[in-house]
Amino acid sequence: MNQKKIILVTGATGAQGGSVARALLAENKFAVRILTRNAASEKAIALESEGAEIAEGDMDNMDSLKAAMKDCYGVFGVTNFWEHFDKEYQQGINLINAVHESGIQHFVLHTLPDYSKLSKGKYSVPHCDMKAALQEYTKRKGIPATFVHIAFYYENFLS
Ligand code: NAP
Repeated sequence: MNQKKIILVTGATGAQGGSVARALLAENKFAVRILTRNAASEKAIALESEGAEIAEGDMDNMDSLKAAMKDCYGVFGVTNFWEHFDKEYQQGINLINAVHESGIQHFVLHTLPDYSKLSKGKYSVPHCDMKAALQEYTKRKGIPATFVHIAFYYENFLS
């Protein structure tokens, strides 16, 4: 029986979640479960071979999120603006509600500053402002959380 606490890593087949999942696997302190829409993808299979458990699910589907979070201690959350655009917000709300309903003890969520607020409404930067709204929603829910603001990736220069 696995005695380690389980962390569900979302976005693990991508850049951010992938680095979180690999760092956790290397540390070997927590058991790593990853959320993916496609358990048969090359990236999911690679993570499985490194020791991750795969949970198939979709941020559009609350039931799949709650099933993926079953028995988890923590969740790393990253939502993806560049594939879903405005739908990112509802997917983030689904993720946060699932975290709340699952009684997750520590939620780490990738968010960004609210540029609309900072510029007093002069500039709107949807992929940042929506994440800021998700940060506020998480706080209102009283979820034990850490928010991580990540800058432009160095890796962007490689691709
Ligand atoms: P990425 O490499 O493109 O990977 C996207 C990940 O999101 C994949 O693991 C994918 O999983 C998952 N995903 C997408 N839609 C999903 C859904 N409906 N349900 C469940 N999982 C879903 O993305 P990334 O760069 O790690 O993260 C993107 C976010 O980072 C964006 O919101 C962006 O604003 C933010 N960001 C980017 C930068 C930058 O410099 N690029 C800097 C700061 C912040 P599957 O395909 O396996 O399901």
